[in-house]
Amino acid sequence: MNLSDSERVASVLNGVGCQKVDSEEEADLIGILSCSVRQKAIDKVYSKIAKWNKWKNKKSLVTFISGCMLPSDKERFLKLFDIVFTMPELAQLPRMLSEYGVVNPMSLYSEPHNYNNDINFFWNVKPKYNSKFEAFVPIQNGCNKFCTYCAVPYTRGREISRPSQEILEEVENLIYNDYKTITLLGQNVNSYGLDKKGNELSFPQLLEKIGEMGEKSGKEFWVYFTSPHPRDMTNDIFDIIAKYDCLGKQIHFPIQSGDETVLKKMNRKHSLEKYRQTMVALREKLPQATVFTDIIVGFTDETEEQFENTRKAMAEFKYNMAYIAMYSPRPGAASFKWEDNVKLEEKKRRYAVLSEELQKYTSVYNANMVGKTIKVLVREKDRKAGFLSGHTGGKIVIRFQSDDDSLIGKIVDVKVTQSANFSLQGELV
Ligand code: SF4
Repeated sequence: MNLSDSERVASVLNGVGCQKVDSEEEADLIGILSCSVRQKAIDKVYSKIAKWNKWKNKKSLVTFISGCMLPSDKERFLKLFDIVFTMPELAQLPRMLSEYGVVNPMSLYSEPHNYNNDINFFWNVKPKYNSKFEAFVPIQNGCNKFCTYCAVPYTRGREISRPSQEILEEVENLIYNDYKTITLLGQNVNSYGLDKKGNELSFPQLLEKIGEMGEKSGKEFWVYFTSPHPRDMTNDIFDIIAKYDCLGKQIHFPIQSGDETVLKKMNRKHSLEKYRQTMVALREKLPQATVFTDIIVGFTDETEEQFENTRKAMAEFKYNMAYIAMYSPRPGAASFKWEDNVKLEEKKRRYAVLSEELQKYTSVYNANMVGKTIKVLVREKDRKAGFLSGHTGGKIVIRFQSDDDSLIGKIVDVKVTQSANFSLQGELV
């Protein structure tokens, strides 16, 4: 999400005549898009701004901060940064800059602009995409779920869906500019349309429209979406993904915990049984899809038995990837006031147990790929000299021998020759 936000901020800055420089030291205007998910990220913000404010003794420098901010952090940032704005306030950035002497034509009209303080302005900014073949398209902002460990509903506000016509226009433009992956973004991406029920497409309808568009274009590309919530994951989503080649066969499906009591304490608003039923439908309708998940270990009061249920869930669902996090309380989240009573050592142990468990399934899946010829999006030069790397349609990392940099950004056929726990190796066909 931050990467996507930064593309729109960069576009507005370009519009007021700013140019990108290669290092912090060279910049006259410098900023951060913050993240409130972990305290560590916020700590980094404080250390960066302390450094930049010292630089102000030697040069003229304007600083800004935006992104995911808790109201309490925002109060403190106002004293440290020159400019503080939320994404819905992006329209006001040119005016704010002009107050610091960055004179620009946009500042002349940005104040009375209708879009002030409006997420619609943000969505309408034509982003300066960081990549020529991978793009992120925000379709929804905010969250109504209030998981007890998460501060997002307080930093991003309630769920708002972007008008589908704009989304489809942005996606169509990307397709015709030969983008190879398009990722639909939202804090609750599959809750799309629920805030405008009856007046807007639903998430499955939006996917169907994109699928039809892809088919009509005759181009080869993959569309993904992240992050969905299990409560709003309906089976027709899988039917539609199965129907169109351009809808990526990789599903991110966060479980967070495999224990009913912990799920309730997390206020996840779905049961393990509901998750299981959806998973059965997913495997039945999309047998070739890879499934990724998110898991938190060591949440407040998580017992050994409850953790063991998460390990069992991992064995049952056999994920291709799991982003495992050791729980840490986040100011602003409901769980912040609860005792963080699972010791760090124990969290580390649970993390290690799950990582090991995960490898049992990823290694088997990857070994079964050996001998197959698959489509691969070439993304970059590999760390190993003479190799390029990319990912499969299921987002499994793969490398193959080639010095031909012109393949970067293309989808090619690769025959898988070797497998490891989390990656593959192959030969260009
Ligand atoms: S669904 Fe839960 S974890 Fe996801 S953004 Fe909303 S509150 Fe946070």
